[in-house]
Amino acid sequence: MTLDLVAAAKERGIRYFLISFLDLFGVMRAKLVPAAAIGTMQRNGAGFAGFATWLDMTPADPDVLAMPDPASLVQLPWKPEVGWLAADPWMAGAPLAQAPRNVLKRQVAAAAAEGLEMKTGVECEFFLLAPDQMAVADPADRAAKPCYDQAALMRRYDVIAELCDAMQQLGWGAYQNDHEDANGQFEMNWSYADALTTADRHAFFKYMAKAIAEKHGLRATFMPKPFIDLTGSGCHAHVSLWQGGRNLFEDADAELGISATCRRFMGGVLANAEALAALTNPSVNSYKRLNAAGTTSGATWAPSAISWAGNNRTHMIRIPEPGRFECRLADGAANPYLLQAGLLAAGLYGLATAADPGPPLHLNMVAEGEKAAARHLPLNLLDALRALEASAPLRAALGEEFTQAYLKLKRQDWAAYARHLSAWEVETTLDV
Ligand SMILES: [Mg+2]
Repeated sequence: MTLDLVAAAKERGIRYFLISFLDLFGVMRAKLVPAAAIGTMQRNGAGFAGFATWLDMTPADPDVLAMPDPASLVQLPWKPEVGWLAADPWMAGAPLAQAPRNVLKRQVAAAAAEGLEMKTGVECEFFLLAPDQMAVADPADRAAKPCYDQAALMRRYDVIAELCDAMQQLGWGAYQNDHEDANGQFEMNWSYADALTTADRHAFFKYMAKAIAEKHGLRATFMPKPFIDLTGSGCHAHVSLWQGGRNLFEDADAELGISATCRRFMGGVLANAEALAALTNPSVNSYKRLNAAGTTSGATWAPSAISWAGNNRTHMIRIPEPGRFECRLADGAANPYLLQAGLLAAGLYGLATAADPGPPLHLNMVAEGEKAAARHLPLNLLDALRALEASAPLRAALGEEFTQAYLKLKRQDWAAYARHLSAWEVETTLDV
């Protein structure tokens, strides 16, 4: 039964609701609505001028109405009188085709039509920076190999524990937190769930990490590569496909414990990897994490080729254990909904075409990558956008309205970058 938000406000002491959605650039947009008005908003949605967000609309378009999904209700753990709601943007009586949550819901429905459900977990890496400068907030966090550094982790105990407590309170199944491979970098893990639930939690986590860090006088950033010599922030996704209570990716008798279904699904992801990168690695900065030359810790932990293997972190896809695969492509800039939508669309294409991922490459791709005949990931955002434009399977699955809107806005993004004069250009070109 649908949760009645008027009653929920009374029972739980909610004074305000945030009716919230992510636009195509992953910016979280919201209206703050007093509890007295939530009944009307639940029926009719909250109004937005679409052109004022990244949804590729014009000032002449009618109002976008964000329809709150009551099942997504979260009371802000640090301010429980505010209830956050993920919303589906609608316009002129229909879901807005290019809105990321609607794009994901279409993929989820396509899978459900075949009796399938994708479950995923995401590993969000982020940096804690000083609030007003591009610098790691903790001056003592300088180790060359800082991964799992207990002392550096515990100097950030207050903010990490508050975030982890919040996730426990929300029932996400939070289970571990660590200092990651870059100075100032952390990762916090919670349990996997169906793709839409994970995407809603992922979107909320990014907001929550930033809000709680701010409370502690810090700045949390999910920027893929804030420091060129340090490991970047990935967003690894762990994927399995279910039918009823059965994980279709599991096959105890098969090599690596993964089924033929898993191989086909991975085959679809690998076949569309260049185009998928436009969604999983959506910023100019993303390509400084992929294809990175090296870092002070000794590894980049990011793929540069389109390959897969067993429990080997030098590939784009890793099989950490039977019954699931880990896609290591995405980064912190990925839109939580488009990340899942892209993986699911590519995977369903793989199932429909019985895509063959080829044999696992049991190689250290960093040291021996040149021995493999694997395709390269795009070297920059423009290449990825071109690949998405050329990808008939992803365009068909994600929809033309979405693809065209996304390509148009991201091309504008690329053009703005191309017009930017960098210090590197001046340094290398001034005296030619
Ligand atoms: Mg990690």
